[in-house]
Amino acid sequence: MLNKNLLALGKHRSEIRELFEYGKTLAEKGIPVCDLTLGNPSAPTPTWVTDALLKGINSENVHAYTSAQGSQKARQVATDLLNAYHKTHFSSEGIILTCGAAASLCGVIKTLTESDTDEIAVLTPYFPEYKVFIENAGAKFVPIPFATSDFSVDYNALESLITENTKALIINNPNNPSGKVYTSQEIEFIAKILNEKQNKFNHPIFIISDEPYREIVFDGAKLPCIADLYKNTIICYSFSKSLSLPGERIGYIAISDDVCLFNDLYAGFLGALRSVGYVCAPSLFQYMIENFEPVFSDFSVYESNKNILTKGLLNLGFTCNEPKGAFYLMVKAPDGNSKKMSEMAKQIGLLIVPADSFGANGYVRLATCVSPDTAKASLELFKLLAKEYNL
Ligand code: PLP
Repeated sequence: MLNKNLLALGKHRSEIRELFEYGKTLAEKGIPVCDLTLGNPSAPTPTWVTDALLKGINSENVHAYTSAQGSQKARQVATDLLNAYHKTHFSSEGIILTCGAAASLCGVIKTLTESDTDEIAVLTPYFPEYKVFIENAGAKFVPIPFATSDFSVDYNALESLITENTKALIINNPNNPSGKVYTSQEIEFIAKILNEKQNKFNHPIFIISDEPYREIVFDGAKLPCIADLYKNTIICYSFSKSLSLPGERIGYIAISDDVCLFNDLYAGFLGALRSVGYVCAPSLFQYMIENFEPVFSDFSVYESNKNILTKGLLNLGFTCNEPKGAFYLMVKAPDGNSKKMSEMAKQIGLLIVPADSFGANGYVRLATCVSPDTAKASLELFKLLAKEYNL
């Protein structure tokens, strides 16, 4: 009687959400807990944002519906920000404001796929919701494995898994959950393979560049502009992390004039968003974008947490990578059993997520977007875990 797939989705929360809800219950009871589950930014929202929102709340005409694609002024500001960051020449005609990166991704995936033989490939490790979005669009989710413990791309696998049915490849840079920043050289290599495949199969294969963490990079790492290196790129962006506004749902889809099928893509995105009722992003947050002041959240806390945790964990004998961006850290379960490690941690009040659902079996993911005190307190709990593992 009801849609079985959606029912199952609603009944079984993601492991991240499951642990996050558990942490909230403990905190409500006053039980101390170090919650490293969810990517909720801890850096304060810039004051210009709150000022603009307060002004917007009290202004006339701010709360009305806007054009489906967003107000012209807000789209122009978003375009200018995108061009300033990537040194590109996008026009506001290629921008649609959305309810965040998740809505952007859903709209794009739905537009690019039509039948259950259509495939969307995804670089591993990946944000688990990609699988939900792709399967909900009725298409096939195709994970591309990573080559080594530095989470780089397995190019042989990419070469063999991009088929005649592939409509797009999702790249998330910087990456959730690994903190990896794919370099220009890596993107050029991927672009070369995709260009060969487009020519061979005689149809476009898009890159969906999911960029909600694009401003959060460490140690002077340089984030390449994928749209510059590959013509058929569709950007999905969100202000969730850059302005510490994840609950407010504002972001955009962007395509450049160079992308093939520009007009049809743009119309398709509007249609896809319309089909699920996402017509016009929240007006108050469009007003905020219209009044943008070029100050993002202060991301320094993420870099210092990353340093505290990677150094501390390595000293304790754990194996982990050195993230170059975003605010996550992957740690190897010493015996390869990530679910057991997450469960052992839970018993001592440390909430960390098994990364199997991110396509990285044997790892746990830590969200390092917490306060410095929580980062330090969690290290104390990792000390207990290290003892249990005899490290
Ligand atoms: N893509 C990635 C890689 C994410 O980590 C997230 C959120 O954590 C999203 C998309 C969704 O972003 P938004 O909150 O803007 O919908």
